[in-house]
Amino acid sequence: MIYAHDLIVLAMNGTKELDMAGTKRILTGIRPTGALHLGHYVGALETWLEYQDSYESFFLIADYQALGDNFDDIDKITDSVRQVTIDWLSVGLDPEKSNFVIQSYVPEHAELTTLLSFITPLGMLERNPTLKGELDQLAVEKRTVGFFNYPMSQVADILLPRADLVPVGEDQAPHIEMTREVARKFNRIFEPVFKEPETKIGRVPRLKGIDGSNKMSKSKGNVIELRFTEDQVSKAVMSMYTDPNRLKATDPGTVEGNPVFQYHDAFNPDKEKVNDFKHRYREGKVGDVEVKKDLVVAINQFLDPIREKRSHYENNPNEVEAALMKGISKAREIAKETMEMVRSAMKINSYTSKW
Ligand code: ATP
Ligand code: MG
Repeated sequence: MIYAHDLIVLAMNGTKELDMAGTKRILTGIRPTGALHLGHYVGALETWLEYQDSYESFFLIADYQALGDNFDDIDKITDSVRQVTIDWLSVGLDPEKSNFVIQSYVPEHAELTTLLSFITPLGMLERNPTLKGELDQLAVEKRTVGFFNYPMSQVADILLPRADLVPVGEDQAPHIEMTREVARKFNRIFEPVFKEPETKIGRVPRLKGIDGSNKMSKSKGNVIELRFTEDQVSKAVMSMYTDPNRLKATDPGTVEGNPVFQYHDAFNPDKEKVNDFKHRYREGKVGDVEVKKDLVVAINQFLDPIREKRSHYENNPNEVEAALMKGISKAREIAKETMEMVRSAMKINSYTSKW
């Protein structure tokens, strides 16, 4: 469908926008609540890398959303904004091709969150399974209104650049579904301003934590970070949860749901070896230590090229800052356009003209 605003934008901005006119947009993001981990790579970053050549991408550091449960630790957010940017550069996201953005540097994110919250039924948040699970695990004093509302903020993040596609891990899928519903409702009540974005789930929808819990999460500390040294990887893997019912190497073990094998599948390129491990594990013919030692090697080999790039960016902070500034400026342009369309569609910027 061609949206009226696309034509307006074309008319306003001429050839520059014309170049991008056929290009679809991505908006996706990460909360600056810690350094990035293997789950981010296989659930999200890998897809971002694949699409950064063919989409106009906006990668958002969602600092408002981090405030929800970290309002009392701004130092952590400050440090994480830097860490996340370095992580992105180290895995190969290219600020020349894509736009790196900090949410609070584009205040239209807050304005759109507010406006959309007035047309969004409370039940959408109350029924959201990801939000429910996260709130249950949060200390009472951290259960802020802002945290409860963070999926709403994510809806606004996605709609602000009028994104077509949102590549995320599986836990975020309910938020994208909510985005589609809110976009539909806005377009129906007012004017068709927003697109209904598609969800793209990564190769590993949800990587387990090293503690065996169902998701590796920066705020849970059950992670293998992309910045870990070889020793840190080794310590984390050797301490990993495996099959709790297997007491000796000769006991038949369970492969399904065992994080060690989920990681082998995700990071070990030698599929034949992984299949052999699985076979021997089920038969009680291989010990956890042997399987884990091989996983340490596979993960370290996977991380080596990322480590190499990281050391460059750690030593060149100017490049890290520059990577953010270009994207922020582009995001501001588009945010301004969208908010003009939104205010005009809602007719909330022209009351006095009708008196
Ligand atoms: P926090 O614990 O602070 O919520 P997080 O580790 O869940 O941090 P987010 O910033 O919430 O990370 O998520 C960023 C992106 O990475 C999202 O698309 C999310 O779905 C994806 N992601 C995060 N953890 C995993 C995981 N373990 N497996 C697959 N994808 C993941
Ligand atoms: Mg999360």
